[in-house]
Parts: sequence; C-alpha cells; structure tokens
Amino acid sequence: MFEPEETLDPQDWDEMRALGHRMVDDMLTYLQTVRERPVWQSTPDRVKQHLHAPLPVEPQSAAEAYQDFVDQILPYPLGNIHPRFWGWVIGTGTPFGVLAEMLAATMNPNMGGGDHVANDVERQVLAWCKEMLGFPHDASGILVSGGSMANFVGLTVARNTLAGFDVRAKGVAAAPQPMTFYGSVEMHSCLQKAVELLGLGNEALRRIPVNAAFQIDLDALDRAIQSDRAAGYRPIGVIGNAGTVNTGAIDDLNALADLCQREKMWFHVDGAFGALAAVSPELRPLVKGMERADSIAFDLHKWMYMPIEVGCTLVRSEEAHRRAFSVTPEYLSHFERGAAGGSRWFNEYGLQLTRGFRALKVWLSLKEHGIEKYGRVIKQNIDQCHYLAQLIEATPELELLAPVPLNIVCFRYQIAGLDDEALNRLNQAIMFELHEQGIAVPTYTTLDGKFAIRVAHTNHRTRYEDFDLLVREVVRLGQEILRNQKESA
Ligand SMILES: *Cc1c(COP(=O)(O)O)cnc(C)c1O
Repeated sequence: MFEPEETLDPQDWDEMRALGHRMVDDMLTYLQTVRERPVWQSTPDRVKQHLHAPLPVEPQSAAEAYQDFVDQILPYPLGNIHPRFWGWVIGTGTPFGVLAEMLAATMNPNMGGGDHVANDVERQVLAWCKEMLGFPHDASGILVSGGSMANFVGLTVARNTLAGFDVRAKGVAAAPQPMTFYGSVEMHSCLQKAVELLGLGNEALRRIPVNAAFQIDLDALDRAIQSDRAAGYRPIGVIGNAGTVNTGAIDDLNALADLCQREKMWFHVDGAFGALAAVSPELRPLVKGMERADSIAFDLHKWMYMPIEVGCTLVRSEEAHRRAFSVTPEYLSHFERGAAGGSRWFNEYGLQLTRGFRALKVWLSLKEHGIEKYGRVIKQNIDQCHYLAQLIEATPELELLAPVPLNIVCFRYQIAGLDDEALNRLNQAIMFELHEQGIAVPTYTTLDGKFAIRVAHTNHRTRYEDFDLLVREVVRLGQEILRNQKESA
C-alpha cells in the first residue's frame, strides 16, 4: 500500500557500528601521534580543487564520505592540537573532549529550555565555574560559543541595566545621553564588535592608554570618565583585562572595582584566557579583584583546553541578566509539568534559542581530571613561558620585547646594524619559515613599531624541549635568511 518510509538512520546498523569503531580508533591514533607530524602545512591545490565539487545529489556510503575526510581534510589541520602550536590564543583540546562531543551529539538536546537533565548539567557546570573563579554561588551565567559572545552578553547586561531608560523598548536612539564604555588600548577587538552591535558605535568605546606594564592607566581612565560626564555622556561600564592578547597584561582589577563602585558603573572583566589563572592557587593572586566584577567573560576552549567552542559569561545579578534577554512568547511559555516545565530556561539569558549541549564536554572533562590538575597544567604553561623568556635572554641573537606576566612571550631575532624596519621584515620571514617548514606556529604582534614573534601558550602538550627547539630554529632561520640575502645582493 505504502512505500516504505525513508529515514536518515543507517540501513545496516552493524556496518555503521563498525565504521564508528574505526573512526574512534583512527582519531585516537591521530592524536596520539600528533607530535610526529608537521605542526602546519598548506592545503594542496588538489584538495582545494576537490572542495569546489558541486552539491552531492546521489548518495555515497558513509564509509566513502569518511574516506574523503581522511584523505582530504584530516592531514591539513590548523595545528593547535600540536605540541608546538602557540599561535593567537587557541586551546588544544583533549581526547576525552573529542568523545564527549560525540556523546553530546548523540543526546542532541536543545539547551534553550524545557525540563530535561542536560539543563541541570549546564547549571552544575556554571556552579563549578563560579567556584573556580571565586564568584558568588548565587550569581547567574550561561555557556556561549566563546569569549566574543561572552563579552557581548556581559556588555549587553551592563548597557540594559545602567542605561537609565528602557533601552529594550525604546532603542539606543532614544537615549537622553550617549552611553560610553571604557577599557585600555590593549583590549580585544571583540569588545569593539560588542559596542557596535549594541548600537553605541565604536567611538563609544573609549581607549585608555597603558603604562609600561601594558596595564590600563588609572588616572587617565578617571580623567576620561570625568570629562565625558562633563560633556554630557553617560559612562556605563569599565572593561578590565585579565590577560591581554598582546602581552598577557592584567589590569589592576581591584582598583577598577573600586572606581566602578565609586562612579556607580558596571565592572566587566574580559578574562578570555587570563581568568583561568585563578584555577592555580599560586597564580590566583594575579587576578585578584576579578571576583568583584559585575560580569566576567572567559573561555573554556582556551586555557581549559576543551574542544572549541565553549565560553562562559558569569553575571553577578541574576535579575539583571534575565531582564536583559528574557522574552517569553506563548510558544515558549513554561509549564508546571511535562517536558515544557522548568523555571529557568537558558534562552532567557542569551541570544540563542536553540543551543547545543556544550556543557557536557565541560562536565566530563572536569570530572576526568579534577580542578587541581588543571591548576597544575596552567601553572606548568606559565613556568614554561618563564623558561622560554630565560632562554631568549640568554641568547645574544634574541631580544625579549615585553614583560611576561602570564603566558605570552613576545620576542624577536635581532642583530646590530639593522634598523627596526629591516628587523621587522626579517622576523616576519622567520615566522613564515617556522610555519611553512612545519616546525612551530607562534604568531605575531607589533609592540612600539617592532614586529614581535609572539608565543601564546595554552597548550597542555608542550614540553620544555619544544621551547629549546623553537629558540634554536629561530636563530638558525635568522642566520640563514641573512646569509641568503647577502648572497643574492
Ligand atoms: C580570544 C579572546 C577573546 C575572544 O574570544 P573567542 O573565544 O575567540 O571568541 C576575547 N578577549 C581575549 C583577551 C581573548 O584572548
């Protein structure tokens, strides 16, 4: 009578099971042997060509699709799973984290709302995060895609809470006074995106100069706030950095908390990676004052080494947090019983309605290792950075370009007789060679006009010997490039 229904489930479950076992074996071996491969290599044209094939119309088997992945995709990673990757600030991931992603996708819940246990897992993870960072246990929070979204959520709550009028109803165009936020020139670019999306415009984000340690200049901050007030602006909040991307600098967070208290302003901390210093008892004093923030944004996929994506916003006031985002139309109303029960739905605390089960990999990872081990590995990264800084200082051809307060080391190859411009070109060439020869992936920044090779260390696979090798190779490449230049001149 009826054609048999179609479904996307496998016709042969045993075959899929065998493929799944093979995939797990392959992936674990891939991670186990990562050190033996180049950190990075460019994607060959053959593969790029292949990735222009048109939309598949006819089916392939899952096994064939997987083989395509193994041949064309898997050999060309960005490299952040490798022990000698220290580019930008990108975490490493873990084998159990990989498996956790599979479990989360298996249950495939929607974390936007409803009465189901996965939401309780996220609540527990948030409670653990508060404990990790010394934040009050009755604070609010939400897991998000990463630091950018975490900062956006924090600044949204700040704006909506302190706008002084119903900004959700009227919009920023109705503001009697233009609103402003403050942070140092070393702030991350995602904060600019956040104020832009909040409708305030990039200029509303006041960039305050820094001192020699790359920390926000407190007097300059105070002056900027006072002069803005005098000019009719409404200062809303201050963004404190717990670990800047350029150098790892940590602002004087206690002083910022005092200032915000005095000025009745919101204190937001961007602690994307640096906030996690609090996990190590020895390092915790570096971020003191952070626990006084009204909101904290941080990542679990950077210095907690969890698979990308997962970040978190914590907000001191649950009410302020909910009021910034809650909208409950009929089709989302909560009931007393059944799957539509539960009083707190996460869609009322952020932008997303449908949300993934990010919490599971955090929950499982924290159980797997326990928080003390995370503290030790974070501390190990710092010790390794200090070791690298010492190697640099003991190597005449190398120059350390910034203090190392945390896990970022900026340095360059230098030789007498070359000006900054020539050194900038030389160090850029060294970086290209490090990448293209598959040796290591640091990236770069510019400090006082100097191109710095920049190591940002959130890698639990790195050994001390990897930094010996980095220093050796930078010196070798510097000499080699200079020699080739002379020969061709
Ligand atoms: C990485 C980073 C961000 C942005 O976080 P994402 O997870 O990349 O979105 C913000 N601030 C700082 C200091 C960062 O290092």
